[in-house]
Amino acid sequence: MIQLYIPLNFLGVLYREIKQSLTDLDKMFVLMEREREVADKPGAQPLALAPLPEGGDAHIDSTVRFEHVSFAYERARPILHHVSFEIPAGRTVAVVGPSGSGKSTLARLLYRFYDVGIPGDPPGTGGRITIGGQDIRDVTQASVRQAIGIVPQDTVLFNDSIEYNIAYGRPGATHEEIEEAARAARIHGFIASTPKGYQTMVGERGLKLSGGEKQRVAIARTLLKNPPIMIFDEATSALDSANERAIQAELKGVAQHKTTLLIAHRLSTVVDAHEILVMDAGRIVERGTHQDLLARGGRYAQMWALQQQSPDRLEEAMGM
Ligand code: ADP
Ligand code: MG
Repeated sequence: MIQLYIPLNFLGVLYREIKQSLTDLDKMFVLMEREREVADKPGAQPLALAPLPEGGDAHIDSTVRFEHVSFAYERARPILHHVSFEIPAGRTVAVVGPSGSGKSTLARLLYRFYDVGIPGDPPGTGGRITIGGQDIRDVTQASVRQAIGIVPQDTVLFNDSIEYNIAYGRPGATHEEIEEAARAARIHGFIASTPKGYQTMVGERGLKLSGGEKQRVAIARTLLKNPPIMIFDEATSALDSANERAIQAELKGVAQHKTTLLIAHRLSTVVDAHEILVMDAGRIVERGTHQDLLARGGRYAQMWALQQQSPDRLEEAMGM
């Protein structure tokens, strides 16, 4: 069972979603090893997204909780230290902080590329992550990944058509739905300008897209998937400022009814978040609303003041 399961799962989920590109066989084996680490428990059930008491379609319990989460990729180098926060269903929690502070690691753990904990530590000491109160290690990975849309920092596309790459978010989507998502992500015009349009092959063996174009494909994919939980990891960092503003506005509308983890590279995008977490070296060093954090006059307030002077200096200040 296990032996059959791993390759199927590997092909179905990991091969298509993994952040790093598959360029050679060695890498594939490394990735398979990793996948084994996060295998489903025997008899794992799918994640249940129960209705909240107030009911209604948009009110399923997609609440995300990180409870004292500690994590290391390698035992010798702990990355996260007792990180706790909650994203109430339908709200946005934003994460800011310097490069290397562990922001993307939060996203990878929520998507369950890795399990919480420090390798070699006793079981149960690394905290837990729950969705709707269910530990994500107790339910099937496939159901967790179905509930989440992720726009990663670096998007890797499959060696397939643009249409396939967008529709991957929702197999069975109609061409009209795909095009609508592409328009919202401001990539339709570009696609239409290629000789074969939506059938243009992309990836290593096809048309090479710029970082910004790939990000827009990933955004279209996530908009089409329309999951209850969304993760944006510096999702517009590679876009030019006109496209960035337009897509930010689009994403803001979409995220309004989603449970959203927003990892930001510009503070202007986090102002309305339910809570803002300021990370440094794997710890939350400040937290609160934009107003709370400005009033506190700490790290966030400093970063904000720098941004008012010059956006470039902010990026320097934050080590981005
Ligand atoms: P951020 O997104 O805030 O820039 P990351 O979460 O990507 O930070 O990384 C946090 C730390 O974890 C960094 O020191 C980084 O070098 C390390 N790291 C990231 N990915 C891996 C990995 N696959 N193996 C080992 N260390 C990693
Ligand atoms: Mg990152």
